Amino acid sequence: MSSHERERSASERREALKEVLAQARGCTRCAELAATRKTVVFGAGNADADLMFVGEAPGASEDEQGLPFVGRAGKLLNTLLGEIGMERADVFIANTLMCRPPGNRDPQPIEIENCQEYLLRKVELIQPTVICTLGNFSTKLLRGDPTGITRLHGQPEVLVLGARAVRLYPIYHPAAALYTPRMLETLREDFTRLPALLALGAPEQPLLDEVPELSEASDLAAGPADAPASEPQPAPGAADRGSEVDQLGLF
Ligand code: URA
Repeated sequence: MSSHERERSASERREALKEVLAQARGCTRCAELAATRKTVVFGAGNADADLMFVGEAPGASEDEQGLPFVGRAGKLLNTLLGEIGMERADVFIANTLMCRPPGNRDPQPIEIENCQEYLLRKVELIQPTVICTLGNFSTKLLRGDPTGITRLHGQPEVLVLGARAVRLYPIYHPAAALYTPRMLETLREDFTRLPALLALGAPEQPLLDEVPELSEASDLAAGPADAPASEPQPAPGAADRGSEVDQLGLF
């Protein structure tokens, strides 16, 4: 599927994204998260965005509403976007994990691994030019390297994710900046470089015959790492109030 995504229209890719959303809503790959979540926070925004943000994991407000970054950190993200002349509807916002870790604990490595295929499918289907990672978890995941955000923030690099070359731009997580004025200043400064980065357009794309195939969307249902392979099952107690959010309203 990877190689021909490049030739698919935005509306075809959006339809495919809706199928991935349907699968995500039934995901039980992480037994604990599936049992404790209220919603699967798939991500939201423009399904054909040039700019995609990837945060850490939903918190309590996001879990309630089924939408990413709707709490205090989200309000700061909205403000910072406004300062560069953009709004949420211009971008797609996702997270490393789609389910809230209980008590807002850190995502565990197995959970990150379980969820990464969904994230890569989103990248593959949305085809952003710039992926802005917010904080350590998404930066380390997408770079495949443990170097931390303090060293990397504000430095764009070209990265090949699946079939796509993107400009990765790590910045501080807005939640961290809420409590540290110096960090907020840095985050704001890093944000101001986003328009110029977007103006560069997409980096040169890898040749299709050099591209490793990512899984088909349907494979997403197949391989829970901590549960037997099966069709997606509704999680116990998590019959997904996400269905209250019209899936078309997400993107
Ligand atoms: N923090 C995150 O990393 N993601 C959210 O969606 C909300 C807060």
